[in-house]
Amino acid sequence: CGIVGYIGKRDVAPLLLEGLARLEYRGYDSAGMVITSPKGTGLKMVKAKGRVRDLEARVPKRFAGTTGIAHTRWATHGAPSDHNAHPHMDPGDKVAVVHNGIVDNASELRAKLEADGVVFASETDTEVLTHLIARSQAFSLEEKVREALKVVEGTYGIAVMHADFSDRIVVARNGSPVVLGVGEKEMFVASDVAALVAHTRQVVTLNDGEMATLKADDFRTYTTTGTRTTATPETVEWEA
Ligand code: GLU
Repeated sequence: CGIVGYIGKRDVAPLLLEGLARLEYRGYDSAGMVITSPKGTGLKMVKAKGRVRDLEARVPKRFAGTTGIAHTRWATHGAPSDHNAHPHMDPGDKVAVVHNGIVDNASELRAKLEADGVVFASETDTEVLTHLIARSQAFSLEEKVREALKVVEGTYGIAVMHADFSDRIVVARNGSPVVLGVGEKEMFVASDVAALVAHTRQVVTLNDGEMATLKADDFRTYTTTGTRTTATPETVEWEA
């Protein structure tokens, strides 16, 4: 339902919680986030059924990081619960995915993965994306995501983090909005400009079939087939 992400120098958990709160008007049943620190100390996750304040209450005292992705969920596959809340991670804790939309061929992909020995941690359609990305043999995160999206049918706005590529967030869009917010040595991503405008008015709206790599001081956009696209930030007007 709602996505917020950040990569930069600031303490990320409060920023993500604030961004999620700005998406609350859309309605949701659960929320969660994954963060990491630049030292590459792995991905840390917290999620909760219920409101953003229920998530906030669960955030550990020491939950430092400067990169993260967060989600408010409106369940389509699997009941609202802690374990069905996004992000979804693989058993190796390498990959974290937040997703808006519906994977239409999720049950078919899930059956294939399970036949291959994959154990699912949730009932969501989204989790197939996590395993597909985690199992990809491609060398870059961009290529891993691209390979996964090749076999997925349906709609998505996704944001992906990987413990071995902690300098970036990779996002993609097909039918569910994804906007990038360009800041000063920091980048935001969200499903709705409402979550960004407190921090930057410079936005790039992804097109369907487009992906982007966000780094703290730089971003690039390209198609799901790997061709670079041009993206010039536009200034959004917003009445606070
Ligand atoms: N289909 C996904 C799920 O049920 C994402 C729903 C959403 O857009 O929040 O978990």
